[in-house]
Amino acid sequence: MKKMVKFLDLKKQYLSIKGEIDHAISMVINDTAFVGGKYVKQFEESFAEYLKINYCIGVANGTDALEIAIEALELPKGSEIIVPANSFIASSEAVTRSGHKVRFCDVGDDYNIDIDDLQEQINENTSAIMAVHLYGKPCDIVEISQIASRNNLKLIEDCAQAHGATYDGIKVGNFGDIAAFSFYPGKNLGAYGDGGAVVTKHFDYAQKVRMISNHGSAVKYHHDFEGRNSRLDGINAAILYFKLYHLDKWNAIRNAAAEYYIENLGGIDDLIIPANSENKYHVWHLFVVRSMKNQKLAKFLNDNDIQTGFHYPIALPRLKAYSYITQDTSYMNAVKWAPQLLSLPMGDHLNSDQVAVVCDRIKEFFEN
Ligand SMILES: *Cc1c(COP(=O)(O)O)cnc(C)c1O
Repeated sequence: MKKMVKFLDLKKQYLSIKGEIDHAISMVINDTAFVGGKYVKQFEESFAEYLKINYCIGVANGTDALEIAIEALELPKGSEIIVPANSFIASSEAVTRSGHKVRFCDVGDDYNIDIDDLQEQINENTSAIMAVHLYGKPCDIVEISQIASRNNLKLIEDCAQAHGATYDGIKVGNFGDIAAFSFYPGKNLGAYGDGGAVVTKHFDYAQKVRMISNHGSAVKYHHDFEGRNSRLDGINAAILYFKLYHLDKWNAIRNAAAEYYIENLGGIDDLIIPANSENKYHVWHLFVVRSMKNQKLAKFLNDNDIQTGFHYPIALPRLKAYSYITQDTSYMNAVKWAPQLLSLPMGDHLNSDQVAVVCDRIKEFFEN
């Protein structure tokens, strides 16, 4: 029987670090450090050190991290934040939930923010840019940050898919005023449940984020304003602390798989494959190809025991949730390309034989 090539294999990863994880969980239970406490502090410090940034605040999930990050910036109520039209809905949801308006901008060949269209979308109501490092590839964050400062805009980085990705050797999360990470189990650094973090180099924003996420209080029972409850729990913090030691190695395995895909899937008509960029370290959260035959290809691969995904089949402006938005987005690459995307298996579970099988099946599909 052929072995299945899984899209993702969290069980295999767990078994490879079972000793550390089981130890981490029992330590937290022994110390009853369930919410907040030393394990959360330890992870926050080590993740900040990993990113080489001043502050890291654990929160309940990546969506909250984005929402709280925006809130901490204290932007004018009702102002617009520009969000790429190709992302997960959390990026734009956080904008609306924090009392702001979504304005979409298009994406370029690498599915990240298109600089020209970004500049087109800036207007007198714009207060910030949400730069997403989608699929694990840093967007053109240096140019975007220059555009932000020229136009007096705040910059939020959505790093939910890009733990460890770098631009000119600097880890993403360091370029904006504030940045958000998700530790959803399937992310490159994933918890065993929901989790997230806000990172920033600014003390004032860090302080504000900590207070918002803990009922507006810095000192127990002293509430300066109404915040909310969005905290990272101790068990997940301890798991993340141990998993962080493996992140670079896991990202390297993803890079090896991506390199093999790129070397072997070039030159096929109607199959557009992603690329690396010299000054960027891509961490390949997803390996997304584009084809007019993506649905048929997915079915062929699935029939051959190869799992695939779609990220994302509907561009944000075309979601029912945004049917109220009047902005013209019909010209956008993001809108046109969304139904043609297909995500191949990607993760630290892959070995070279499995990646080779995926490539062989894809070539077979296009030869027939
Ligand atoms: C996963 C994800 C989020 C949200 O993270 P959660 O932890 O699931 O709330 C935000 N933005 C992007 C781009 C994501 O992929």
